[in-house]
Formats: sequence, C-alpha cells, structure tokens
Amino acid sequence: MSALSGGPCVVCRRRDDGVAIRIGKDLHWSCMDHIHLTKKALEMPRQQFDVYEHEAMEEAMNKAADRLEGFGTSDLFQMDEMQAHAFFRGVLDDFGDTLEDKLEKFEPQF
Ligand SMILES: [Zn+2]
Repeated sequence: MSALSGGPCVVCRRRDDGVAIRIGKDLHWSCMDHIHLTKKALEMPRQQFDVYEHEAMEEAMNKAADRLEGFGTSDLFQMDEMQAHAFFRGVLDDFGDTLEDKLEKFEPQF
C-alpha cells in the first residue's frame, strides 16, 4: 500500500483516503472503510466484479426514481443546487453501498 492520493475508491467510487494497493505497476485506490473489500475486489475474477458493479448500478438507478419522487419532481432543472447535490450524492451512495454489500458477501473459491 502507498500513502498518496490519486483516485476514487475501487468499491464505492467516492473518496480515496490516500491509500492504494499496488498490483504490478498499477495503483488501485481505496477509502479507509473499504481497504479489505478493495483487495477482495481486485483478487476476484474480473467478470464477477463486473456483474456486481452492474447490479449495483441497476440498484442505484431503481432507487433514483424514489429519490426523485421525494423531491417532488423528476426534472433535474427544477431542483435547486442543494437538492441536485443531495440527489446525486444519494445515487452515488446507493451504488457504493450496494457494491460494498455484494463484495462483503462474496466468498472466494479456493
Ligand atoms: Zn470506499
């Protein structure tokens, strides 16, 4: 691991906390909450990770409709800046939380 700053967390796509896992020449960034899951994600078959990532995106999209309903509009241009920020933060959090949950439950086969 390195203590630099460089990119979003592999798992939640939110912040990195200056922690990276090096595989070969490549650095993969993580937040402090997801270091163990970042290692797990990098070690799992890429195809399986892609499936989880896709499912997390689908879940976030499904929840986005409910979030819009909570704001009383489906028109992003009708939202003020704080509402738009809260909406997109929520979508991003839903994606990261779902992917985190899927990775926590993943059991590698040896
Ligand atoms: Zn994270």
